[in-house]
Amino acid sequence: MRHRVTLYKKYAWIFGSLTGGALLFSGVLNISAVYEESQSAMLKVQHEKAQAAADQIAQYFFGIEQRIGMTSVSAVSAVSAVSNKQSRKTLLEQRAAEIQYLRRTSAIREIRLIEPNGREYLHVSRYAPDVARSGADFSRADFFKRVKTGRSYRSPVYFQDAAPSMTLAMPVGPEGAGITVAEIDLEFLLANISRIKVGQSGLAYAIDVNGHLIAHPDIGLILARTNMAGLPQVQAALSGTDGVDPVTRHAHRKNGEPVVTAFSRIAQLDWFVFVEEPLSEAYHPLYRQAVRSAALVLVSILFAVWACVMLVRRMVKPIELLRMGTIRVGSGALNHRIHIDTGDELEALADGFNQMAAQLQESYGTLEKKVADRTRELEELNGKLATLTITDALTGIANRRRFDEVLASEWQRASRSGQPLTLGLFDIDWFKPYNDYYGHQAGDECLRQVARVLTLTIGRTSDLVARYGGEEFVFISPDMDTTAALAMARKLCATLRAQALPHAESSFGIVTISVGIAVAVPDANNSVEELIKAADQAMYQAKAQGRNQVVLAGHV
Ligand code: GH3
Ligand code: MG
Ligand code: MG
Repeated sequence: MRHRVTLYKKYAWIFGSLTGGALLFSGVLNISAVYEESQSAMLKVQHEKAQAAADQIAQYFFGIEQRIGMTSVSAVSAVSAVSNKQSRKTLLEQRAAEIQYLRRTSAIREIRLIEPNGREYLHVSRYAPDVARSGADFSRADFFKRVKTGRSYRSPVYFQDAAPSMTLAMPVGPEGAGITVAEIDLEFLLANISRIKVGQSGLAYAIDVNGHLIAHPDIGLILARTNMAGLPQVQAALSGTDGVDPVTRHAHRKNGEPVVTAFSRIAQLDWFVFVEEPLSEAYHPLYRQAVRSAALVLVSILFAVWACVMLVRRMVKPIELLRMGTIRVGSGALNHRIHIDTGDELEALADGFNQMAAQLQESYGTLEKKVADRTRELEELNGKLATLTITDALTGIANRRRFDEVLASEWQRASRSGQPLTLGLFDIDWFKPYNDYYGHQAGDECLRQVARVLTLTIGRTSDLVARYGGEEFVFISPDMDTTAALAMARKLCATLRAQALPHAESSFGIVTISVGIAVAVPDANNSVEELIKAADQAMYQAKAQGRNQVVLAGHV
């Protein structure tokens, strides 16, 4: 069981962790790559918005500048026409058209033409009648000093009637011809900035080169002359770092709320357009996407690990079957077969194993049969040998060895039970002359006949008859009193006589025996030797008394 768990766990762990790890690794890489891409895409979009706003503002602004240039040229022509009285009608009409055009261009509030000496030459306004040659002195104005040096002038943003405004001044026509000064209404900037949509609560704003707000959806901030220069992103922009990235990480609003921001510089005006969105809002879709991707990765990892575990289970199952099979066959179940149908090397292995088990079973079967045969033969031989060791070869009855064993054990038994034990001993009368007369082979046959009579007469299973040696025989009869013993011995003599085996050398004419009987109850005062001796003496007494009779020994 331990091995199975180890193999299963081992490979499930290896495959599962490899697959899961690879998926996790690629998933994390992918998520972080997508995250980075989305982040830079988001920043790029912001930057593009800022860029577009800056371009739009620049375009609009320079459109206005161009118009001012054109208008001032035509205004100069109009004034000079008035003075030299020529083509006056035509020029006045042209002038009227120019003023109409100027009025339609709502961003230009008023225009002044200034003579090279700083005196006002013409003043055209949307809100007041035109004034020519007022002589007002502008020689000390900033714009005058600046334009005198040959460059155009743009004032800082100022407010007129709560409207952000700006003064533009530029040279008119050829060198030293005069200066055009226009007051520009910057409200279009506000409209432009407010139109930019940045997420839910993002916004766009513009600052000048000093960090002052010049456009913001919240005009209150502009009116309050809010300076944004303290913000890190504004600092970065003002310090000349153009681009998006360096300021985004620590960018925040004035209230400390972190933002994602991008800016674009309007080079000619030295203004900056910022686009910003609260960090939490900007990153929300990114986080959502990351979480979705992570969930997907997690699900695919779980699926992959599950698939690995299933695969390993499939792989280990036949191996386990093989292992169990070897254990069963090894423990002796040679008829066990392994069933694997994977159609691969494992199935081939199982087939090979089954063949091996079959061969083993066959060999074992043959071997078992051989062993059984040999054992049986050996048992038979042993039986024969045992019989031989206790059997007399000539007569087939028990031999002297068997007699000794049985007499000893019967003596013991009788001593335990207190029952009498009878021993009879007899000898064929005049057997030597019989041999001499009939020959030795006839003597043997005579011995067999006597043994047969003995066996038939003394037939109790508890009795034993045996050949004592030569032509002497014995019988042991347990649990028999003296009278019965005597009767049995006499019956033996009588039965032999009844056989009437001829004996030419005997005075009786037939084969007879002389029997000595001894009966004893074993106790402390007698022994088995004394029993034998008593029976022997009784038999000799029978011989002495004329043979062919039974003599009972005295008390043993
Ligand atoms: P007795 O009546 O006094 O016993 O006279 P006996 O001739 O029988 O004398 P004894 O018992 O001494 O003779 C034994 C003879 O038995 C001697 C031997 O020739 C014979 N004999 C002993 N064993 C065998 C045997 O196995 N086969 C044969 N044929 N004869 C045997
Ligand atoms: Mg004898
Ligand atoms: Mg004899």
